Amino acid sequence: MAYLTSAPRGTKDILPVETPKWQYLEKTLLETAGLFGFREIRIPTFEHTELFSRSVGDTTDVVQKEMYTFTDKGDRSVTLRPEGTAGVARAVLEHGLLGDALPQKVSYNITCFRYEKPGSGRYREFHQFGVELYGATSPAADSEVLALAYECFQVLGLSNVVLEINSLGCPECRKQYVQALLNYFNQYRGQLCSTCLERLDRNPLRVLDCKSPEDKKIAAGAPSILDYLCDDCREHFREVQARLTAAEIPFRVEPTIVRGLDYYTRTVFEMVHTAPDGERLVCGGGGRYGGLIEELGGNPTEGIGFAMGLERLLSTMIAEGCDFPPEQTCDVYIASMGEAAGVKAFQLANLLRSEGFFAQCDLMGRSVKAQMKYANKIGAKYVIVLGEDELAKGEAVLKSMHNGATVSIRLDSGFSDAIYEEIMAHAYADLEEVAEDLGLNLH
Ligand code: ATP
Ligand code: MG
Repeated sequence: MAYLTSAPRGTKDILPVETPKWQYLEKTLLETAGLFGFREIRIPTFEHTELFSRSVGDTTDVVQKEMYTFTDKGDRSVTLRPEGTAGVARAVLEHGLLGDALPQKVSYNITCFRYEKPGSGRYREFHQFGVELYGATSPAADSEVLALAYECFQVLGLSNVVLEINSLGCPECRKQYVQALLNYFNQYRGQLCSTCLERLDRNPLRVLDCKSPEDKKIAAGAPSILDYLCDDCREHFREVQARLTAAEIPFRVEPTIVRGLDYYTRTVFEMVHTAPDGERLVCGGGGRYGGLIEELGGNPTEGIGFAMGLERLLSTMIAEGCDFPPEQTCDVYIASMGEAAGVKAFQLANLLRSEGFFAQCDLMGRSVKAQMKYANKIGAKYVIVLGEDELAKGEAVLKSMHNGATVSIRLDSGFSDAIYEEIMAHAYADLEEVAEDLGLNLH
């Protein structure tokens, strides 16, 4: 029975009390990216498995251990997207977006699926917001994407975030670095975990990304990629930093960042939030990538992007006491007594909604007393009670639940206008009260 009464491990429901926060987060991120020229793209939840194994990299944890792969009824191998970059690259190529004016900038807001051990903010289905910028090789593009990453945290009210940046160089300078890494790690073959021994043979950079504490200790003493950068890569990295400094965007060079996916070149970065107690949380990461578009059959085109985990962002915002917009509450609750008044309440509530008000009326056949209790519970701002008298007079009382003030409202065609005026007048009176408290003059 547990199959019917609990969601699969690593998934979660987002309940109506939480969705306003999610909607705010997603809207804010998409709009912020919009100010930088990124337009939203929507891609399928699953893709051909090969897309991920070829692009994300078959030596990565994501591809080796975490993909939700299955054979569909047509005997094709498909995979639930573990990240967004590969699917977005496939889509922009398929639809020829790279033939339009460059750079091409897209943003996305997606669910991702990874078969991981759930716990402490780690899920099997989670949400990512990300962006990709194609066709610009300049360091200015890296700086702009980094600036956007930083701005996202700023607009959400998360000020304790630092961009940790590194350069992975180009395939040329990396060759020498990989050799130096091999020489270093070979001394520790007896101590590295079995996965890392395999990584050492296939992609030694991955060892730097190992989560095991013993391997982390060994990795800390490894040579730094920054000592192996060629002149062009060093200059590129310098210019990225110069722009960040000019725009007063806090960053720190962190030579151990290699990122979990295989396609990166030159600039890579992570967005690290530090809580007041000093705890670090990596909320997202990204970087520049070279071969991806080519690997998928396109002309050589560089891309740069990032992805942030929305679960981590949201829990950080809540922990830090960031502001969220107030939840929408019912403007007017129309209580009624008797059948005819019930029909009138229904008609008026419907009229109010068509005018953009949040209006509710009784659906439970409750007594007026119980309806008022309900109106109070849902935080209705105003109530109207309709009975036989009100219907006969064509007039009813609109009562403010905030201060008990009442006013007579006609139940004719001017109904919603009268309510609008009343609500505005009350809002103004409330504002005057606040202004008076603050010693301000509104006139
Ligand atoms: P980690 O090192 O924490 O496993 P990662 O390198 O696998 O992260 P990315 O692939 O860079 O993560 O994904 C970007 C962001 O997506 C992460 O910084 C994180 O906020 C979020 N994320 C990744 N995996 C999960 C998950 N299983 N559950 C929730 N959020 C996740
Ligand atoms: Mg991971």
